[in-house]
Amino acid sequence: MFENLTLEQIKLKLKNNEFITRKKNGKSDVWQNFLEITDLENNFIGYVLCKNCGQICTYSQKSGTSHLLRHSCASSSKQSKITTFLPKQSIPSNIKELTINKLVRDGFKEFSQEMINIGAKFGQIQVDDLFSHPTTISRNVIKEAEKIKSNLTTKLNPIFQTVGGAFTTDM
Ligand SMILES: [Zn+2]
Repeated sequence: MFENLTLEQIKLKLKNNEFITRKKNGKSDVWQNFLEITDLENNFIGYVLCKNCGQICTYSQKSGTSHLLRHSCASSSKQSKITTFLPKQSIPSNIKELTINKLVRDGFKEFSQEMINIGAKFGQIQVDDLFSHPTTISRNVIKEAEKIKSNLTTKLNPIFQTVGGAFTTDM
């Protein structure tokens, strides 16, 4: 009755609690890594779930556990992931700074344009009305924004005067 299910359908049913898993007390060590998948009436559906990686495999008394033993998790459950052994690359601080500066500058440019658009459309509005939830801004952003802001204020004020908006710098 469950033969026609795809692995994706089984995964979905597990997620939706239409299928559940149970521990199998088999002789083989493989059952330390695999759980039997059953329906809600506790009927085994012919599939097992790897506890380590979530892979679903077929299982029946007839097929035995040899293919489950070949499953890489089952045979090497204590082996660390290969990434653990790769040397960790550290990014030079000047690269980090460049990235942040670019992000902040470009972001602020876009943000300013958006503010101008909103100002042109709605006239003078309070920043608090625009942002209903306080946003956490990192120190770097604030520091960089301060620099750009003082630059931009002088450039933006004439624009706001022509479109009838206003620009306050206390944000
Ligand atoms: Zn696995």
